[in-house]
Amino acid sequence: MSLLLASAEAYPSRFRPDMRRRPNGTPPEGEAYGLLFGQRILKGHDETFNVTLAVPIQMVMSRDADGIEVHGVHFYRIVELAETFPAYQFLGTYHSHPYQEEDFEWLDSVRPSDSDRQTSRETAEEVEKSIIDLIIGLTCRNEESGTPPEPAAANIIHSCCGNYRYSLGCSRSDFVTKKYTPVDSLLCPATL
Ligand SMILES: [Zn+2]
Repeated sequence: MSLLLASAEAYPSRFRPDMRRRPNGTPPEGEAYGLLFGQRILKGHDETFNVTLAVPIQMVMSRDADGIEVHGVHFYRIVELAETFPAYQFLGTYHSHPYQEEDFEWLDSVRPSDSDRQTSRETAEEVEKSIIDLIIGLTCRNEESGTPPEPAAANIIHSCCGNYRYSLGCSRSDFVTKKYTPVDSLLCPATL
């Protein structure tokens, strides 16, 4: 839920149906980016990431509709403080892909870019553990959104909330093999 709210906050005003300009004096709009915390549960070779906290990073170096850059200082400041709570282990990151309504495709909206893969692998390398990379693709419509289509795979979620339509997709960067692959299954209590 916090993920959707942070993504809607940063969603470009010019992409909205009323196409207003960003209010004067506000920082750039575009992608949202944040950190995921919770429990990592290992059963044999299966690893489950149970996310219970999503923290949007507010201090960004640059942001537009095609990308976002954050500094390691702010990233690790949050990680270090959150991890003082045993329930909140660092599990990975999320970011949004905002689209204008006519450019939004349910499935394509959550496709990771080459730089998404690269950044996620580098983060796994830095924290020395496997992490997840969650992407929320979203668009805003003029009216309340209707029924989303059936997801094409178990690791994709399509949903609607108010005027927003969104998809969730998730991949995992393996610390040992360095592979970036879609997770087997993605469950979100907010969209059940
Ligand atoms: Zn991306």
